[in-house]
Amino acid sequence: MIKKFIRKILGVKSSSEVTTAKSNRHPVALGPKEHGINPQLVSANAIRITQTLQENGFKAFVVGGAVRDLLTGVKPKDFDIATNATPEQVKRLFRRAFIIGRRFQIVHVMFGQDLLEVTTFRGPSSEGAQKDEHGRVLRDNTFGEQHEDAARRDFTINAMYYDPATQTVLDYHGGIKDIRQKTLRIIGLPEARYREDPVRMLRVVRFAAKLQFTIDEATRAPIAVMAPLINNVPAARVFDEMLKLLTSGHAMACLQQLRKEGLHHGLMPLLDVVLEQPMGEKFVTLALSNTDERIQQGKRVSPSFLFAALLWHQVLEKWEAYKAAGEFPIPALHLAADDVLNKQTDSLAIQRKIGSDMRDIWAMQPRFEKRIGKTPYKMLEHQRLRAGYDFLLLRCASGEIDTAIGEWWTAFIEGDGAQREQLINQKSKPASTGEGVSGSVIKKRKPRRRAPRKAAAAQE
Ligand code: ATP
Ligand code: MG
Repeated sequence: MIKKFIRKILGVKSSSEVTTAKSNRHPVALGPKEHGINPQLVSANAIRITQTLQENGFKAFVVGGAVRDLLTGVKPKDFDIATNATPEQVKRLFRRAFIIGRRFQIVHVMFGQDLLEVTTFRGPSSEGAQKDEHGRVLRDNTFGEQHEDAARRDFTINAMYYDPATQTVLDYHGGIKDIRQKTLRIIGLPEARYREDPVRMLRVVRFAAKLQFTIDEATRAPIAVMAPLINNVPAARVFDEMLKLLTSGHAMACLQQLRKEGLHHGLMPLLDVVLEQPMGEKFVTLALSNTDERIQQGKRVSPSFLFAALLWHQVLEKWEAYKAAGEFPIPALHLAADDVLNKQTDSLAIQRKIGSDMRDIWAMQPRFEKRIGKTPYKMLEHQRLRAGYDFLLLRCASGEIDTAIGEWWTAFIEGDGAQREQLINQKSKPASTGEGVSGSVIKKRKPRRRAPRKAAAAQE
């Protein structure tokens, strides 16, 4: 249905008639003066790999995002290598090399903690490949020539090969020109390339936002119409791509661009929630700009923290509803967390471990508001204190709860024994209760140990 509809709108030919991407056999070769890559930015381990492969008679290049980043003067975060050696041949040349992947085998080569991906040139795909009913390529394992490998890559700026030995860049699809003109252009027929792999639509948006490039009109135009094809992509893959998007250091810009291209709507409930939730907008904006800042400073961000933040206001809403229905605060929070996680898992496949970390971060929140007795000391020992505390600070900064709670915790975490005791004593005085405006106010509740756990029991 969708396929037919899209064809009708775009006037696209059936998949047997279209050639996806034309293979340019002869690349433009650029020397160091022309491309201007700073060899200092090239990873020593990438050079080790290309050199070893070349010494053994194979072709080997740094490829993809790393070349793109090198050409824009950015230090690449990882290096991928492309070669004409088969995975078996690559594996034999390195001590710590592992063949992974079933659909298409690649080799992970490790030096200490550094992991590099070595991929054998892929051959032409589309025509013979197994596809789903919407034209998405399911399986294709063919190895091929370098020019065929180039034609299968997504964007012109991602289809360049750099040989560290000769310092030459091979450009098959006009990537250099597009880099200079700051243009994102898909290789081949946009409609066909999106149909083969709808995730490319998310990738366009990520790269446009991250690199601050303009999307070429022919590359951009089909997206609004073809966006629903993302629904057919396995949820785990969408999750991976979303995670890349959110940890690109430009998450806010990416989400805005997704919205602009009409890609957020109905595709992923998560994005609907994030972008159309006025109450949580400030919270989400703060969370994402925090994340962007951390990434830009080279710090790590935890996916669980990120997704916990994105979904927090949905949890809050459901938490309120469960409490209003008579549930006690803590079980109500767990029920709300279950609801939100279950709904997301259907479409976005949040991994189990990430889901359980998110739940921890949420479950800590009401406990931060209980600043008397032994609870704060127990919290200090909590494995995820840092994440929970950072989350609490976000809640303060967004105006959801009183900033005094965050300040109290900062003082408590940083304080020595005597200072901590003093902080607890302060809180134990009746006048100081009730700062929280989040509605959890568990302090005011009577002891509830033996209270009936209706909903929790029903859930078991
Ligand atoms: P990043 O800096 O975010 O890692 P990247 O371009 O390296 O960007 P990867 O996902 O690491 O992105 O992919 C490596 C390369 O593999 C890309 O540069 C591109 O050439 C190719 N590639 C990745 N995904 C696709 C896809 N869906 N379709 C076609 N080619 C792809
Ligand atoms: Mg990469």
